[in-house]
Amino acid sequence: MARYIFVTGGVVSSLGKGLSSASLAYLLQSRGFKVRLRKLDPYLNVDPGTMSPFQHGEVFVTDDGAETDLDLGHYERFSGISAKKTDNITTGKIYSDVLKKERKGGYLGKTVQVIPHITDRIKEFIKNDVAKEDFVICEIGGTVGDIESLPFVEAIRQFANDIGKKNTLFIHLTLVPYMKASDEIKTKPTQHSVKELRSIGIQPDIIICRSERAIPLNQRKKISLFCNVDIKNVIETVDVKTIYEAPISFNKENLDKQVLDYFKIKTRKKVNLNPWKKITKTVLHTKKSINIAIIGKYVDLKDAYKSLDEALTHGGIHNNLKVNLVRIDSEILKFSEIKNKLKNVSGILIPGGFGKRGTNGKIEAIKYARQNKIPFLGICFGMQMAIIEFARSKLNIKKATSSEFGPGGLPIIGLINEWNKGGKIIKGTDKDLGGTMRLGLYEAKLKDNSLIQKIYKSKSIKERHRHRYEVNIAYKDQFEKNGMIFSGLSPDKKLPEIIELKNHPWFVGVQFHPEFRSRPLAPHPLFSSFIRASKNHK
Ligand code: GLN
Repeated sequence: MARYIFVTGGVVSSLGKGLSSASLAYLLQSRGFKVRLRKLDPYLNVDPGTMSPFQHGEVFVTDDGAETDLDLGHYERFSGISAKKTDNITTGKIYSDVLKKERKGGYLGKTVQVIPHITDRIKEFIKNDVAKEDFVICEIGGTVGDIESLPFVEAIRQFANDIGKKNTLFIHLTLVPYMKASDEIKTKPTQHSVKELRSIGIQPDIIICRSERAIPLNQRKKISLFCNVDIKNVIETVDVKTIYEAPISFNKENLDKQVLDYFKIKTRKKVNLNPWKKITKTVLHTKKSINIAIIGKYVDLKDAYKSLDEALTHGGIHNNLKVNLVRIDSEILKFSEIKNKLKNVSGILIPGGFGKRGTNGKIEAIKYARQNKIPFLGICFGMQMAIIEFARSKLNIKKATSSEFGPGGLPIIGLINEWNKGGKIIKGTDKDLGGTMRLGLYEAKLKDNSLIQKIYKSKSIKERHRHRYEVNIAYKDQFEKNGMIFSGLSPDKKLPEIIELKNHPWFVGVQFHPEFRSRPLAPHPLFSSFIRASKNHK
């Protein structure tokens, strides 16, 4: 039977619950156990798919096409385990399931209530789709004390009772602040947060204390005493220099050992920290660096392109280079400034995006990359903009546009049913925006002797998608005659998946999101190649 580890957070948000859970997953996995990671999100959106990146950061997409919280990206990158649709749930989804059932008469005349109906549905989710796992690590979003997360906390309290406390472990992550004025580490916020947790029925078994500096023994003893937790289970996590150090640091603090001791389980293997030590060393000590421009709408928010930033860093690690990300806001990028703003960058990247705002800046930057032979990677919307730029400049279709921008012009990019009326309509709606995109893993066949085939060293690939609009395949010949090759197509040859330029050292556009599959211990070939090309450019 699987053991369940619940991770809650206290005092403030953004303490790194996701990274702590992911690091613990790596450590347990490295000790020979099968682990699964899950996230319970307290907000009312059914999934984060319709939320702007400004709200919650990036929307992470799984192989099976779920639009999830970006913490699932951390989980995948650290544990190497691909997340599934069944690994992320929100209050909105729970309520919509319960209400659907109620409308069908599924509660047989009962009054439908938070306890037991909502909490039962949460418990079903926690247990769902778990087979041979030794451990399921379940993170509860938000901070203890929030009204929103109450049903989740209540559900995990009941859950421990249902499956037995010895099979359930509660980890609480709190902030232990350092007060400069008195030169002291303060434990009171942790005490209060644990008190809050206990008032809703949960006694933590392990407390992870996030702190700027090492926590002296006396303060640890105080936390142990006031919070009723064994001193060995008061675990400190001092800010690390790079996130890749997190598994090393948690292991040093015995987090994985304490978890196994709690469940009275012997380790199966010795932990292997060498891969993390190696990349930590590279990240901290590499002197050479490279500037890569990311031109998008959401550059002001650090987490909006989380997986992308990570994938570029991984590409840097692979090439022994530090990658400096030069974030440029496409909305204010003027044609006259492009040369100046891009003069120190070695590669240009246009990430995924939605809507017309800021597209002129992107299109101009693509033109600059194309004409000046600067390595260019266009991801999803970035590829679509490269198509529009090329159509306008080289195919002389001045009115080339995407129907995403509204009526008018000639849509080279559009909903597939706009031009595929006779054939089978695979998808294509802009009416209901939730979960209606082309989502998840789809195959692409790669053209022989293309750059992309050299990069992937394969004739066929699978990558994660998240888009509604497509490049109209009818223009393929026209583009190819002018030097833009459609080097990757869907197996039925109807959907362009990859484009590249003939007379350019490295110009690639992809309709999918390769960043979701890059991992620090297995950098994605597309990013490694892009960084290598950029390094060679300057
Ligand atoms: N907005 C574009 C579409 O829906 C691209 C989406 C994206 O970049 N993820 O097709």
